[in-house]
Order: sequence, then structure tokens, then C-alpha cells
Amino acid sequence: MDRMRELVDLLNKYAYEYYVLDAPTVSDAEYDALYDELKALEAELFFVLPDSPTKRVGAAPLKEFKPYKHRERLYSLDKAQSPEELKAFFARVEKAVGCFPDFTVEHKFDGLTLSLTYSDGRLIRGATRGDGVTGEDVTEQIKTIRTVPLTIDFKGTVEVQGEGIMRFSAFNEYNRTAAVPLKNPRNAAAGAIRNLDPSETARRKLDFFAYNIGYHEGIRFDSQRAMREFIVSNGFLYGRRFDAVSSEEDAEKVIGAIGEERDSLDYLIDGAVIKVDSVALREELGYTEKFPRWALAYKYKATETTTILKNVLWQVSRTSKINPLAELESVELGGATIRRATLNNYDDILKKGVKIGSRVLIRRSNDVIPEIMGVYQSHDDDKEILPPQVCPACGYPVVREGAFYYCTNKTGCAPQIVAMLDHFADKQCMDIDGFSEKTAEQLYNELGVRSPDMLYDLTETDLQKLDGFKDKKITNLLNSLARSKHTTLDRFIFALGIPNVGKKSAKQLADHFKTLDALRHGTREEISMLDDFGLITADSVAGYFEDAGNAALVDALLSKGIIISEPEEAGEGPFSGKTVVLTGSLKRFKRSEAQKIIVSLGGNVAESVSSRVNLVVAGSEAGSKLQKAEKLGIEIIDEEKFSEIVDNFV
Ligand code: NAD
Repeated sequence: MDRMRELVDLLNKYAYEYYVLDAPTVSDAEYDALYDELKALEAELFFVLPDSPTKRVGAAPLKEFKPYKHRERLYSLDKAQSPEELKAFFARVEKAVGCFPDFTVEHKFDGLTLSLTYSDGRLIRGATRGDGVTGEDVTEQIKTIRTVPLTIDFKGTVEVQGEGIMRFSAFNEYNRTAAVPLKNPRNAAAGAIRNLDPSETARRKLDFFAYNIGYHEGIRFDSQRAMREFIVSNGFLYGRRFDAVSSEEDAEKVIGAIGEERDSLDYLIDGAVIKVDSVALREELGYTEKFPRWALAYKYKATETTTILKNVLWQVSRTSKINPLAELESVELGGATIRRATLNNYDDILKKGVKIGSRVLIRRSNDVIPEIMGVYQSHDDDKEILPPQVCPACGYPVVREGAFYYCTNKTGCAPQIVAMLDHFADKQCMDIDGFSEKTAEQLYNELGVRSPDMLYDLTETDLQKLDGFKDKKITNLLNSLARSKHTTLDRFIFALGIPNVGKKSAKQLADHFKTLDALRHGTREEISMLDDFGLITADSVAGYFEDAGNAALVDALLSKGIIISEPEEAGEGPFSGKTVVLTGSLKRFKRSEAQKIIVSLGGNVAESVSSRVNLVVAGSEAGSKLQKAEKLGIEIIDEEKFSEIVDNFV
């Protein structure tokens, strides 16, 4: 009971900070964990405290706003976080209505719930959800949202419910110039709507996604599909996703697909909402005190949490840029243990007010290293983060250019050289199989390799001196090195690591100049005429080849017998217009060969499986990519079938 009281007090405090102040001090993941603990305790003890958050929606309205009593109550949503909980929801519904009904599945927007009242074709009121019965009148703030129609065709009275959100693009744009950056789009949207000054709401460029019709007169709706038609035909935005499903498997597939596309959307979603389509069945199912029994939010793994910033390390990259890397008190996020996060640069650190010892909000998208979004809680004894005075690796002076610090040692800074060797050998560059960052470190430290051309002088005797290099590994590496000498111009350009030249620009340079010689003589003017090339990149490229040291490196590489063929042309063929993923090990083809074949037969090769992928070629021992493809219903073929397609065409 003591723990229950403690949890209720803590959760109510957090809910006040979140709903009323729009300034949470813990992440949703941390709040949800405590909430789940309370729910379990209530079930175990068959007892619920009167002020328990498990029985209430949101929080009471702020007194600065006029209260608005909703014509029809607004609810929260019950949630599921695992396939088992989803199954249990379907089973409950099926049991209650006697059949498996049609459901609809859509995005669960993570913003602020709003209810807009229209009468006689005009927007007459806009309100927040508040505690579900009474919300705050925020009509003037809502009128600044461009995607809220001020007039609609329908002339009866209707309450349109939806979510006010801030797109990532608007969020990033706002933060570019903001004195105090916003930490996350959800709180940014809530803070914008519940700002007494509507001009601040307008500045945040919010959007409104409608997803439900509450009170209505003068029209009847028999399904979610009908509500959606009404919403769309009256000029509102409905989420991009709207799928009707009539089986558990289909529902799981759509939920899986939404989870996949989550990171590619321009707005925050924290789940998928599954609703019984039929309004008649909804009436049969009814409501609990807190949520409808006919709907469920399937929540995906959290992408945000908070933790303590322990230290900042400065790391030198291949391009001599010195990047801050945050060391964190380890924390679980989205199924992984996080210990490090990026901070973009020193200006970013100052702008976000991050200090050592602060509790910071971290956000993780895809599988990349998480980013620190801002401070959640600071303490008096938090320590300032200082910029590097000298290069942390070689002790050379640093220079500051724009927001970044650079090491001035161009030839002898160990991490730069190791990273350069590793990049040169990368799959997308010279594709030296069996070469890793660790190999680069060993070659640098133990064999004195200082530039990529020296890789081609390595002998069996040299490699025998390295830890972990046995006969097979040595032969493999020497063979890979020999094979890598046959390359294409785009790969060679990318491998050189010219500042500002990524894979795409390397390809554009190769397509335009056709030969290395022509590129070496290319002028700034000519280069800057290429698509997506500005003066800065053109200067980088021309400047690179003018530099005597770089010119000597290119000559040295050529003297080792590197043969550069013209760029691979994207061809026509059985993979035209298709994005293909290779997974598992292939017997007949090397991975890079298979990639080349796909491109030459019209396809694109992607590294990871997402809903945009059309075909997966699965070799033996294919793992998670194959499973993901199966879940998303993507066409999968084995190596035999792939060989057959290739042989038939070539
Ligand atoms: P919720 O946000 O988890 O889900 C319910 C809401 O989802 C609905 O009210 C609706 O507005 C919205 N929604 C989005 N898309 C929808 C769609 N397509 N169809 C229907 N509804 C849709 O529940 P809640 O009660 O609003 O908030 C509880 C959650 O808020 C918690 O789980 C927690 O994550 C967060 N919270 C965090 C803190 C904190 O301190 N960090 C405190 C309180 C609450």
C-alpha cells in the first residue's frame, strides 16, 4: 500500500508537469514503466486509490484558459506493447460481439489531443482534451494552424477530434534559429497550443490530423470508414495510413509495417491505433472510465528516455573534424543498452545548455547512435563542457571553422589515418573483404602503414606478425587486396575520402568526367555545374587534386597497379525500378558482385529492409532481415531463383 501511495503521488506529479506545464521531467518510457507497476499492484491488491491516474484521463484544465465543456466526452486509449496483449484485445472484442469484426488501423500521433467544434460550416470553438469532460478553450491558438479549416461544407454541428502535432521539419527549422531549442515535437506542440500568445502558436507551424468524430447532429456515421470520408471531404488532413483489416494476421502485418515506416515519417508517432470499424458494435462494447473497449493503442518501443551525462570525449574523425561524444549513465532504450550519444558540435552544446552531471533527454531513431536533445534537469554543481584546446589524439593546435573544431595535423594524426584506411577498404569504396577498423589499427600500430597505397605492399611475412592473423586470414586479405585493384571510377573517388564528397557525389563526378585523368584536370567551374554541387564542394574536389601530397597519393596508388574502369551504368532488366536487399551468405556470388549485377539489371540495392523494399534475396543463414521481410510481406527469393533470373537475362 505504501508503494501504491508513492506511485500515485509520483505519477500525478509527472502528469501535472506533462499535461499542465508541458514540461515533463521524465520520459514517457519512464512514466509508462511506473504506470504499469501501479496497474499491476492495483490488480494484485484489488484496490484503487481515488486519485489514481489509472482511472483518469489527462489533467484538469489550466485556469488561465476559459474552460470548455465538451459536448461528448473524450477518452484515452488502452494500450498494448506485445503481440500477446494485442491477441488478448482481439479475443476480448471477439468474445463480446460474437465474431471477429472488421478493424481499422492508423497512426497513433504523438501530439496534443484537440477537439474542434463546427456549426453552420464555421469553426466556432477549439479546445484541448483536458480531463476528457472539460478542456481549455484555445480557439485563437488553433486558428493559426494552417491545416485546420476555418470553414467546412457540412452545415450541421459536429466535433472533429484529432491531434495537434509539430512536424520534424518544422521542429528542426524552428530550432535552427531558436534561442532555446525545443526538446521534442510532442511537448513543442502542446506548449504551442497552450501558449497564451497565439502568435507563438503560429510561429511553431503546427499541423492537425483529424481521426474521429465526436458529437454530431444532422448526419449519421455507421463506421470509421464513413467518418474518414467525412473528415477528408471536409478538407481535414487524415493520417497517411488507414487500413481496414478483417483478421489478426492482417492487423499484425499492418502494425509491423507502421513500425517499419515510423522513422521515415515527418512526424512523431508512438504507436498504431486499432479500432472496431462498426459504430453499432462500438456501442455494444462501450467504455471503461478511461477508454473505449473498442479501440487499442499498440505502442512501439520507446525512442526517447532520460539519463545522466557523465562526460564528453572529443574524437577526431577521418576528415580531421573533432566531434563531441557523450558518455552516459547506461540506460535501456528500445531494447538496447545505451552508453553513448552524439552532440553535434560545440555550438549545439551551448545552445542546448548541456552540462556534465545534467539529466538529459536522448532520442534514438533507426539503429544509429542516439542524440542528446536537451536538458531535462540541471543541478547547481553541473560542470561546463569545455571545447578542445588541442587535438586530443596528437596534441596539435586546433582551428575553429563555423561550429566545428578541426585538428591541424594533416599527415600524422593517428585516428585520422586509421579512419582513412578503414574508409578506403570499405565495401562501398575499394571493397577489401575481411578488412575492419581493427585491421586498420593493427596495420598502423604494428606495421607502420601510413597511407592507403602502402596496403598494396603488404606481404605474407608482414601479416604473420599481427595478432590473430593465421594462414587463412592472411591469404584472404592478400587476395582481397589483389581483387580490389580492379575497381570503378566512382568507388575510387569515394575511397580517396575527398572532403564533402560522399558516395552520391563520387558517382556524379565519375558519370560526368568518365576518367580519373579528366577529373584531375576538372576546373572548379565545371565541377560546380554538376547537380547538387555548390562552390564549396567544387573547391574541395579541385583543391584536393591540386594538393601535392594528394596528387602523390593518387600516383602512388596507380603505380600499385590499380585499374579503374568507367562507372557502372544502371541498366534495364528484371530488377528495373525495384529496390533489392541481399541477406545471408551467397554461394555463387560475392556480395559486391551480386550488388553490381542488380544495378546492371536496373535495380537499386538497399542495406536494410523497410516497406520501400520490393525484393529480398535470401542466401543461407539469413537472419533478422529475412524475418522482417516476411513480416512485411515482401517478395523473397533464394539464391537459386536469383541465379536463374540473372542467367535468363544475361
Ligand atoms: P495516449 O497518448 O497514450 O493515447 C490516447 C490518445 O491518443 C488519445 O487521447 C488521442 O488523443 C491520441 N491519438 C493519437 N492518434 C490517434 C488516432 N489515430 N485515433 C485515436 N486517438 C489517437 O494516452 P494519454 O492518456 O493521452 O496519455 C498517456 C501517455 O502520456 C502515457 O502513456 C505517457 O506516455 C504520456 N505521459 C507522460 C508523462 C511524462 O511525465 N513523461 C506524464 C503523463 C503522461
